[in-house]
Amino acid sequence: MSSIAAYKGHIVSPISASGSGDYSFIDYPRGLMVVTDGKLTALGDFDQLSERSDLGAVLRQVTIEDFGKRLIMPGLIDMHLHLPQVTQTAKSGQHLLAWLNRYIFPAECKFSDIDYARRIARWFFAELAANGTTLSVVFTTIHKEACNVAFEEAARTHSRVIMGKVMMDLNAPAALCEVTQESLTGSMELARKWHNAHDGLLQYAFTPRFGVTSTPELLSGTGELWKRFPGTYMHTHLAEAREEIQTVAALSGSAQLYGYV
Ligand SMILES: [Zn+2]
Repeated sequence: MSSIAAYKGHIVSPISASGSGDYSFIDYPRGLMVVTDGKLTALGDFDQLSERSDLGAVLRQVTIEDFGKRLIMPGLIDMHLHLPQVTQTAKSGQHLLAWLNRYIFPAECKFSDIDYARRIARWFFAELAANGTTLSVVFTTIHKEACNVAFEEAARTHSRVIMGKVMMDLNAPAALCEVTQESLTGSMELARKWHNAHDGLLQYAFTPRFGVTSTPELLSGTGELWKRFPGTYMHTHLAEAREEIQTVAALSGSAQLYGYV
């Protein structure tokens, strides 16, 4: 027997003619959506759908949940965010590398405490869910166990999460600087455990922080891991700030700056 639910409210959704780049919105101020066995089976104006012969009988059998003028919309997608930085919101006003050293690295050090890591992860994913974000691509910290509990907490919210343990083996504070092989091994173990877990909602991203904090061995080893685990992602930062670009260029004798002003 099918499970049917119906929701009424102000329905908005971006749509795109496939690949045309011609974006527009659907907008039903008095909208109705019908969900059958977890899948959207009808969407449109409430009055028009109610008059449809195939839907009338269905709608008489279910209790329509009425959200009035509230918006019903697709989940939001956040393509880049940092779990530990939820504790440092609005700490800014400095250049990237100074901001990292003053605020972010000290905040990340605290994730060696597994109880703290779980508490912040629970807060982080609850905030995402409360604000309508149903897919997020997430940096954690270098701590393998903290990343592991972050995946556990992500699973509790049933949202889609692409996430990984941060990898740093150069130019990081001592407490956040890894032994290269341990960073690679820890990441591999997490990918093996979590990639495609929880009905495929959880996926793994190998996460070298950026060029400044990566040895060539870490980057090439990460590339090898990414190839060994098909379907996993690579998540990093590239060319965010002038001083970062200059630092990476100085670190790599073979690097050349193309189009850099
Ligand atoms: Zn970032």
